[in-house]
Amino acid sequence: MKSPILDYLNELLDTCAPDASAKNADYIPELARVSPDIFAIAFATIDGKIYAAGDDRFEFTIQSISKPFIYAMAIEQRGLDEVMERIGVEPSGEAFNELSLEAGSKRPLNPMINAGAITAHSLIGEPDDSKETRVARVLKGLSAFAGHDLRIDTEVAESEWSAAHRNMAIGHMLRSYDILPEDPDVIVRGYVEQCAVVVTTRDLAIMATTLAGGGLHPVTGEQVVSQRTARHVMSVMLSCGMYDAAGDWLTAVGIPAKSGVGGGILGALPGQVGLATFSPPLDPHGTSARGVDVFERLSEDMDMHLMDVP
Ligand code: GLN
Repeated sequence: MKSPILDYLNELLDTCAPDASAKNADYIPELARVSPDIFAIAFATIDGKIYAAGDDRFEFTIQSISKPFIYAMAIEQRGLDEVMERIGVEPSGEAFNELSLEAGSKRPLNPMINAGAITAHSLIGEPDDSKETRVARVLKGLSAFAGHDLRIDTEVAESEWSAAHRNMAIGHMLRSYDILPEDPDVIVRGYVEQCAVVVTTRDLAIMATTLAGGGLHPVTGEQVVSQRTARHVMSVMLSCGMYDAAGDWLTAVGIPAKSGVGGGILGALPGQVGLATFSPPLDPHGTSARGVDVFERLSEDMDMHLMDVP
């Protein structure tokens, strides 16, 4: 179908050129094997219209883009106060995989870095739940945000698990401060499977729209999380979703967002649209380089910056 919006999305795909210095993530061996040329853009309005261009049905692993959704589930299950006792909401200014905790409270600084996300994964279950119980909840929750059943890419999960030394170090650090009451092996293994859930760029756009619409799924009509939870999660995405590039992103793009080392970026503009891009080569922050270009262009061309005065 021809439309001016699709023409515009195709023009973005043509003009946001590859960056020669950007490379696929290789610390998870399977991610290095994905073609660096795959490129897609999708967005969905809160009344359920979807626009997508490029390789928008190509399947890839969600990686860190799972973090805001699992955090939302933890808040719904435990209540915000209990979650806040274990995970803060301050930007860390550090890389996503830093071994760091907040001074004093010894909580992870926020749920978007791995330390906070591993803790959120623990909070969606009870201390003696098995890995399988939590992973089943992850799949159910992420599927509700997407509007259809999602699955795990077990090869990517195995590949990450075979080299998960840093995340295991984070798990043991959290265990030593009783932020995790469980065996870190069970929690980190479950978190690795959470990161290996398979999505398309279209799925991410719809998942983003569910947040942007205050937790209401634009197609299924399910209230997946409360409006209050969606507001809280988008706030944390805005201040922490881009790790140590959060300030650059906030000033240049101004959309609550989350990136993943698979190459996806998801953005949720409250009350308006959900956006997603996919291109595997990453910048030094672990964020899709072409995806950043596309978001900067979209924000500029469509006046999507939260601080734009209409
Ligand atoms: N699974 C990856 C990890 O924990 C996710 C990181 C990311 O996407 N930034 O290292």
